[in-house]
Amino acid sequence: MTQINPREVASEQLKKICDKLGIEDEVYEMLRQHERIVIVKVPYHTPDGKLHVTVGYRAQHNSALGPYKGGVRYHRNVTLDEVKALSMRMTRKNSLAGLPYGGGKGGVVVPKEVIEGARKKHDPARIKTMEEISRNYFRAISPFVGVDLDIPAPDVYTNPQVMARFLDEYQRYTGQKVFGVVTAKPIELGGGRFRGASTGRSTAVAAREAANALLGGIEGKTVSIQGFGNAGQYAAKFLAEFGAKIVAVSDSKGGVYDPNGLDVEKLIQVKKETGSVVNYPGGKKISSDEPLFLDVDILVPAALEGVITKDNADKVKAKIISEAANGPITPEADEILVKKGTFVIPDILANSGGVIGSYLERVQNRIMYRYGAEREKKEIEKKIVENVKKILDRKDEFGGDGRMAAYAIAVERVVNAMKLRGRI
Ligand code: NAD
Repeated sequence: MTQINPREVASEQLKKICDKLGIEDEVYEMLRQHERIVIVKVPYHTPDGKLHVTVGYRAQHNSALGPYKGGVRYHRNVTLDEVKALSMRMTRKNSLAGLPYGGGKGGVVVPKEVIEGARKKHDPARIKTMEEISRNYFRAISPFVGVDLDIPAPDVYTNPQVMARFLDEYQRYTGQKVFGVVTAKPIELGGGRFRGASTGRSTAVAAREAANALLGGIEGKTVSIQGFGNAGQYAAKFLAEFGAKIVAVSDSKGGVYDPNGLDVEKLIQVKKETGSVVNYPGGKKISSDEPLFLDVDILVPAALEGVITKDNADKVKAKIISEAANGPITPEADEILVKKGTFVIPDILANSGGVIGSYLERVQNRIMYRYGAEREKKEIEKKIVENVKKILDRKDEFGGDGRMAAYAIAVERVVNAMKLRGRI
């Protein structure tokens, strides 16, 4: 099977937008290339005392708008090309959000048994290995990150606990007592108080704004959600608060559907107590994928990437899709959806509450003052409302394609900043 190279896909996407905006080839080349790639050796010991060496990356794509910003993922299959592609996406996401940030992303190749032992089985020996990997990775990249240089955050299989280790290692290495060098830290170490809810909040607010503009309001509109973790649960909670009716949700074990509406608080409780929404009392049992194809007004994919493809896009009935997950719709499926008139709020907008929350955390760390959750929530809301309006205003320039409108706004800002700096 031919492997799709994520860096090539990201470059092709960028080329498509540049061509559409009439951006010259040499400017495209300046936009495409990374400013710096850091590759580091990460030694660690397994519980039997044996020494191993793995590899870690930090890709710094573009800093025209400000310091690099983006998560660090741990996975056995992390590749440099994947990290490069994700950092290009972060440049776009941060630009669209109007943040004073460029794009960066990191990754460490971590064996499955270490991740599973530490995260799922809470095995103390594996937790120790994971901690050693975190400290050794961050110490190695410490000369290249900083509160005004590059600010990492969690991504796949990293969390606030890992951020706490990064912070501590950075402080030991540099001797500086700065807190804003990483974000999404535990609240006790300066983490944003609304950070946990911020991604789901942006997905819900974006869907509400699009429904107000395109469907005459959010009240009573039906919603289905695939994935009921951090992003899916908060999206459900806030959409229900706005008056929408959550009719279907699923997780990796299956799902539940009730056309009369599901009780979100009950769903969260059942998921917490039993591990899956399939144990919700009432409704009809459905498969993990079924929420994608139900006859609803709004669909929130909040699980995996690439779930809507050219082979199933025709079956999607929702009028609006708010992408909580990163990349749930393939480029070919996108074209089918645009032709059908489905309005897609792209991931770089619909889940940008996470990075906006991270930005607010760093601002507070820098001034050594806590705004509190309410102010963080309000600021995220304001940015999402403005940005949904911007893409709705420009979608017709791109044949109704919300994703292209979002990319265009993001790329134009980066190009403008590069011109002002005299880089192009
Ligand atoms: P999570 O691990 O908390 O939850 C993932 C959920 O998806 C779980 O309920 C899991 O059971 C479910 N799932 C897994 N496979 C599934 C399948 N085949 N069908 C249906 N459900 C399935 O993760 P999360 O933090 O909620 O992230 C979800 C998505 O949102 C990811 O794509 C992530 O990259 C993206 N995202 C999250 C954040 C954040 O701050 N949490 C920020 C930006 C983007």
